[in-house]
Amino acid sequence: MTAPIVRTLAAIRSEVAGWKRAGQSVGVVPTMGALHEGHLSLVRAAKAGCDRVIVTIFVNPRQFNSPQDLADYPRTEVEDARKLAPLGVDAVYVPDPEQIYPEGFSTTVSVAGLTEVLCGAHRPGHFDGVATVVTKLFTQTRADRAYFGEKDYQQLQVVTRLSRDLDLPVEVVGCPTIREEDGLAMSSRNLLLSDRARVWAPELHRAMEEMAAGLVSGGDLTALRADAEARLLRAGFTGVDYLDLRACGDLSLLTAVDRPARLLAAAWLAGVRLIDNIAVG
Ligand code: AMP
Repeated sequence: MTAPIVRTLAAIRSEVAGWKRAGQSVGVVPTMGALHEGHLSLVRAAKAGCDRVIVTIFVNPRQFNSPQDLADYPRTEVEDARKLAPLGVDAVYVPDPEQIYPEGFSTTVSVAGLTEVLCGAHRPGHFDGVATVVTKLFTQTRADRAYFGEKDYQQLQVVTRLSRDLDLPVEVVGCPTIREEDGLAMSSRNLLLSDRARVWAPELHRAMEEMAAGLVSGGDLTALRADAEARLLRAGFTGVDYLDLRACGDLSLLTAVDRPARLLAAAWLAGVRLIDNIAVG
């Protein structure tokens, strides 16, 4: 059965109120649609952990840096509903934009520190857009638990921080990155890759794995990064925004693997910006 699509705040509120009265827990999976197995893995985790599950689909204009990127973002609502049908989701919340940003909307949620590095440094305002919409979706759905992918590792840390800082009554749950067979992290943006670029794309993950292995065996970070970047450029990537070794949790920059660490990267391939991250050690 297709999950019911709800488009207004009033309708999702009344649905959730009934569940809460019955003492049921609510899980939310925020997405921008163009759903793939990565999203569906979050839905399965939410189903396993909560009585009721809401998937939200909202292409949030405030987290895009360029109007062209927003216009190009894939939108596949009918296909999304078809993919969700077998999973037993209780509601698919697809808010009309004015349900999120009504006229006169003037508030921005901004997380300091964590958002100033990595993607935050390259996409000004992006994380303010994310933090604002996520706060709205949390309060609108009154979720007890919210599921996010490690694929967007920095986003996961930002959302965890804001939820703690604002005492939001929601537990943020991180879920592992789901990959294609060739290692490419699943992403809605992969749909924007040409057939040729799709063949080159897994080089990002391969280069990161090689760099991580080098770090674990005591290799020099600067030399390993230079090798990885050269490998990506040879493979057809046109630029690397960052390829950093950072501490899990606070994302501080590391020069050696002396605590739990992650490699995080963003690189451009045929006009598409791909991001990925892996644990090191
Ligand atoms: P998006 O629709 O790209 O905004 O992503 C919605 C949620 O799905 C975010 O929490 C992402 O981190 C998560 N997600 C996206 N791709 C993957 C993936 N390959 N594996 C696990 N989670 C993912």
